[in-house]
Amino acid sequence: MLTYGDIKVEKPKLRIIDDVTFQAAQVRRNRNREMASRNRTKGRYLMASHLRCVCGRAMCGRKKQNGRYEYYYCAGVSLPRHLQDCHEPNTRADAIEGQIWDWLSGLLTEPATLTTALERLATRALDDLAPAPDRLVAVINETQRIERRIPVWVNQYADAGRTELDALRGEVRRAEERLTALATERADLERQIAQAAVTPAQLQDSTALAAQLREYIPNADYDAKRYVLDRLGIRCRLRRTEAGDVWADVTANLPGQVASTALQISLPATPGRCCDSRPAPRTPGGRSG
Ligand SMILES: [Zn+2]
Repeated sequence: MLTYGDIKVEKPKLRIIDDVTFQAAQVRRNRNREMASRNRTKGRYLMASHLRCVCGRAMCGRKKQNGRYEYYYCAGVSLPRHLQDCHEPNTRADAIEGQIWDWLSGLLTEPATLTTALERLATRALDDLAPAPDRLVAVINETQRIERRIPVWVNQYADAGRTELDALRGEVRRAEERLTALATERADLERQIAQAAVTPAQLQDSTALAAQLREYIPNADYDAKRYVLDRLGIRCRLRRTEAGDVWADVTANLPGQVASTALQISLPATPGRCCDSRPAPRTPGGRSG
């Protein structure tokens, strides 16, 4: 696509990268823009570039009333008015930063809390694939049953007439095909079950990382907190329930040598109470402006 002012011309032959690379570059460019907006922000916002709005856009920090209040607001606000499609209220910065920091410091300073969280994660992962262990037992049983039948059919070859022999050979061929399919399914199920479990190695890696980060917790200043958040790849996404409450779904990544472990928690988010930059949706008795 070539652009001259308002005129856009398709020139497929001039294309130098494929669609996948182009899309990846767009993702990277958006990410850079979000990181840059965090750097441009005059205040220092802990959750900048770690926080996403209900609509999926990044949220940026902003001061209100001469710096008395700090909020995170959706990046969609800076779109031209006719393109604005997100009407989520601002989020109080002190509330969400405090909750996330409290959760993280508890996780990092109390080894028992981390272990419990990891164990809960493992249980939940196994619950998610609840049918898998049962299916694995069924697959193993069927495999053993077929493996016992094949020699019986083969032994009958000697006494069989031509028609019977064809039928027996057909049975054996189908049984062997079934065994191949069962072996593939078995390997797949075993891999799923192994991945769901939190291994001793992962537990060890997570505990080691927590021990490293623990020393940043007492009297942590902005830079120390940012470092901890970055090391854990904290991602927080706001979510609105059907009842209208807003929750913050937080994910912490515990990188390990074998695999990383994602810990998740949902915390209630506190909406901005005053001077929202956009009119709130009109609700009876609701505040706006
Ligand atoms: Zn939004």
